[in-house]
Amino acid sequence: MFDSLSDRLDGVFKKLRGRGHLTEDNIKEALRDVRVALLEADVSLPVVKSFIASVKEKAVGVSVTKSVTPGQQMIKVVHDELVELMGAVNESLNLAAQPPAVVLMAGLQGSGKTTTTGKLAKRLAEREGKRVLVASLDVYRPAAMDQLRSVAEQAGVACLDASPDEKPQVIAQRALEAARKSGADVLFLDTAGRLHIDETLMDELVEIKSIANPVEILFVADSMTGQDAVNVAQSFNERLDVTGVVLTKTDGDARGGAALAIRHVTGKPIKFLGVSEKLDGIEPFHPDRVASRILGMGDVLTLVETAMEKVDLEESAKLQEKLFKSKGFTLEDFLSQMQQVKKMGSMSELVEMIPGVKQAMKGKDVNLDDGQIKRVEAIILSMTKEERRKHQILNASRKRRIANGAGVQVSDVNKLLKQFAMTQKMMKRFGKLGKKGFMRGGGL
Ligand code: GDP
Repeated sequence: MFDSLSDRLDGVFKKLRGRGHLTEDNIKEALRDVRVALLEADVSLPVVKSFIASVKEKAVGVSVTKSVTPGQQMIKVVHDELVELMGAVNESLNLAAQPPAVVLMAGLQGSGKTTTTGKLAKRLAEREGKRVLVASLDVYRPAAMDQLRSVAEQAGVACLDASPDEKPQVIAQRALEAARKSGADVLFLDTAGRLHIDETLMDELVEIKSIANPVEILFVADSMTGQDAVNVAQSFNERLDVTGVVLTKTDGDARGGAALAIRHVTGKPIKFLGVSEKLDGIEPFHPDRVASRILGMGDVLTLVETAMEKVDLEESAKLQEKLFKSKGFTLEDFLSQMQQVKKMGSMSELVEMIPGVKQAMKGKDVNLDDGQIKRVEAIILSMTKEERRKHQILNASRKRRIANGAGVQVSDVNKLLKQFAMTQKMMKRFGKLGKKGFMRGGGL
C-alpha cells in the first residue's frame, strides 16, 4: 500500500534537499507537489485542502536550525500531519462489556465482512483465549451463511445454526441468548451485505443494533474502492454511529486514499487493516507507523513486533536494546540481526520495513538471498572476537586473513564493512527518533 504516494513524496523531499532553508516559495512549491501526490492517492479534494492548509501553517512557522535540512523539516511536518489525519494512536477493540461483548459487522457486499469476522474471531480466540461465537444474519444469501460457518471452522470458533427462513432480528436475539448460555465472551454478528446503500437494509441494521446493543460496530471497507469507501463509510456512520473501521484488501491497494481520509471524514478510527485473504491476514492499524512507512522511513516498529512474534523473545529483546543504543552496535549484532531476519521469512517484505532501505535500494538489485547471508556469516565468523567488536582495527593484512578464512575476496570484506557502517548509521538515526510509541498498543 502507499507505494506511489511514497515515491511521489520522496521526490518532493529530494527537491528540497538542495535548498538552504525553507522559504515561503519553496514551501509553496513542495506543497503543490504534496497536493498532487495526495490527489493521485485518491484522497478527496476537501481532505487534501485541509491537510495542505495545516502543513503550510506549521511549515512556515517552523524554526530554522542549522542541523536540520529543509527536506527533513518538511518530512517532520508532513509526518506529524499524516499521523494527525489518521488518528494519532492505534485504537484497539473495545470489548469492555458485560459478556457477551457484541461486535456488529457492517458494510457493502464483498467488502470482506465475513472474512474479517473470521480473522478477528481467530485472533481473539488464539491470542486472548476468548470464547467466541459468530452468527450470520444474512438471510438473503444462504451462501453467505455457509461461508461464515466454514470460516468459523477454520478459525476454531463456534458458529450459530441459523436458517434463511428466519428474520435477521430473530437470529440476532437467538445469538445473544446462545452466547449467554454458552458463556461466550464475544459475539460477532455478520450482517447482510448490500451492493450499495439501501434504505430497507439500513433500517434493518438499525433495528439489529437496538436489539443486540453492540459495544463495537465495525464498518468494513474495501480499500481498493478509494474515495467511494470513504463516502459509504460516512453514510453508514450517519445511520449507525459506527465505532471503528476495518480497511480490507490493502494488499491490493497501491494508492491508500481511503486509509488517509476515512478518519478525517467520519471521525471514526481505522482499527485494523486486512492484508491478505488468509485468516491471519489482519493487522492493527498504527497511524504513526503507517505515516513513517509512507515517508519511506520504514516501519521498524512493525519489524520488531514481527520479530517478537516469530523469533526467540530473548534475542529480540537484546536486539531492540541495541537498536536504541546504536553506539554499542557491533558486527556481532549485525550478524545476529541478519540471522534473525533470516528466521523471519519473506525478505522483500521485511526489507521494506527497515528505515531508509526501501528508498536506498530502489532500482538496485536487492541481492539479499540466503547465499549472501551465508557469506556474511562466513566473513564475520572468520574474525576474532576483538575484531568483531572493534571493526576499526581491521587493517589490510587482517582483512586478507579474514577473506582467506571465509573463502571470499578482500573486496567482499570491504563491502560487508560498508554495509555494516550504513546499518550502524541507520540505527543511530532510529535511536534519535526516540522510543516514542515503541511497542505501544500491541494487539487487540
Ligand atoms: P462480504 O461479502 O463483505 O462478507 O465479503 P467476503 O468476506 O466474502 O470477502 C469478499 C472477497 O474479498 C473474498 O474473496 C475474500 O477472500 C476477499 N478478501 C477479504 N479481505 C481481504 C483482504 O484483506 N485481502 C485480500 N486480498 N482479499 C480479501
